[in-house]
Amino acid sequence: MQGLKRTHRCGELSAANVGETATIMGWVQKNRNKGGLVFVDVRDRSGIIQVVFDEGSVDAALIEKAAKLRSEYVVAVVGKVAKRSGAVNENIATGEIEIIPEELRVLSESETPPFQIEENSKTKEEVRLKYRYLDLRRPDMQRNLMMRSKVATLARQFMANEGFLEIETPVLIGSTPEGARDYLVPSRVHPGSFYALPQSPQLLKQLLMCSGYDRYFQIAKCFRDEDLRADRQPEFTQIDMELSFVDMDDVIDVNERLLKYIFKEIGVDVQLPIQRMTWQEAMDRFGSDKPDIRFGMELQDVSEVVKGCGFGVFTGALENGGTVRGINAKGQGHMPRKKIDALVEVAKTYGAKGLAYLAVNEDGTYKSSFAKFFEEEQLKELVKAMDGEPGDLLLFAADKKKVVWDVLGALRLHLAKSLDLLKKDDFRFLWVTEFPLLEWSEEQNRFVAMHHPFTMPMEEDLDKIDSDPGAVRAQAYDIVLNGNEIGGGSIRIHQDDIQSKMFEVLGFTPEQAQKQFGFLLDAFKYGVPPHAGLAYGLDRL
Ligand code: ASP
Repeated sequence: MQGLKRTHRCGELSAANVGETATIMGWVQKNRNKGGLVFVDVRDRSGIIQVVFDEGSVDAALIEKAAKLRSEYVVAVVGKVAKRSGAVNENIATGEIEIIPEELRVLSESETPPFQIEENSKTKEEVRLKYRYLDLRRPDMQRNLMMRSKVATLARQFMANEGFLEIETPVLIGSTPEGARDYLVPSRVHPGSFYALPQSPQLLKQLLMCSGYDRYFQIAKCFRDEDLRADRQPEFTQIDMELSFVDMDDVIDVNERLLKYIFKEIGVDVQLPIQRMTWQEAMDRFGSDKPDIRFGMELQDVSEVVKGCGFGVFTGALENGGTVRGINAKGQGHMPRKKIDALVEVAKTYGAKGLAYLAVNEDGTYKSSFAKFFEEEQLKELVKAMDGEPGDLLLFAADKKKVVWDVLGALRLHLAKSLDLLKKDDFRFLWVTEFPLLEWSEEQNRFVAMHHPFTMPMEEDLDKIDSDPGAVRAQAYDIVLNGNEIGGGSIRIHQDDIQSKMFEVLGFTPEQAQKQFGFLLDAFKYGVPPHAGLAYGLDRL
């Protein structure tokens, strides 16, 4: 840095520094040469400051040097902080001030970057990723990473204050099944053998409870070999925790306070307690186990109402043990046919064979794909069951329950997005509880754990574990924010007989269970505290 020391970050300077000499270092955002007057904007992660090279106050050699600066050169400027002589820039925090330079040094030159370093870049994703180091210079990206760091720090502070110990768990381990595929690392010293990378520290944190650490947390890297989605990456970070001698209310309490603590930082006051809803209720009302409750448009079961109607799609679904449900898009009755057809296509991508619609016209008549199969009276009843008023658009799916949930749940979100019902600054948290313990996997032709195999069934359902495993509910809970599952956890099984039973239901022979999970079953023989935990996806949070 040619002997210079930085005194301030660019964005830290304000009117309070007027008259002081400052040394800033950063990247040239832009330079405007007006002949004898050169404005140079210098940027670092804190913001931008304007440096003014003016004939009246700065010597000619310096102005000439400034005129040669190009975008993304790295410079050091020593100068006096002054009130702006020109117009104040309301758009930037340092808009009232500028620097009158005494010294300018080029620390590094730059080729013309492949895209402008600016907020909300329209640059193609492939280009952004190829030049990720430039992409990460953009202010919005820098804000994201700074926010992420802040959240991690707040979480650490909070957890430490609550008596949690931060403990690192190993990364080269045996498998910790959580429903995804493992990443494997070949062992050099045992040719033909592999380590698995942890899908989460689940088993390790449970063993820590067995060892008496009582309250553990970790900001942990996890690895799952899954297909990419916007909110699902092969390697990701959790804020992971486990607690001994607690019940669900204890886990929820500590986490509600953690969320309040973190969100305060972005000016959001999380109202406690956070609303709770069972999985069953979430599915019935919203068609989703992570409902966005910023808006209504809830699902209505109209199976009883449409029974015996003349519309084969409805009656056929009911005869096959399915259901008929609908949502009411309030005030959307005027939607043109083309747009409704587009909704049908959306429904199909979620497994629907079709989508029935009924628009209630202002004059009391209907525009509908199925009204002609209905008696007048039954149609009225259907509209009433849907809370339909003139001007509304009612959309119906008829199929197996799961398909109907998926389709209407997705349609509800799709409509909310296109009708601009999702307010960005509205933060609606929700606990979803009592998940099914198991779900049937068509692919594997067996039950798989919905959360993971270490989740405790609800005590009142334990007797159904052999006779009707699909009906057993789990002591599991997810924390949902605006339709995103940001975290989840459960009360754990801490009895070796129940854990063995669970492995049996999941299709493990006792030998396989012993081979893969013997260390856990063995640990359970030596005094296990009842324990429970939860993990957040840090980036989702
Ligand atoms: N290990 C779980 C997960 O990764 C979280 C938990 O149950 O604590 O989803």
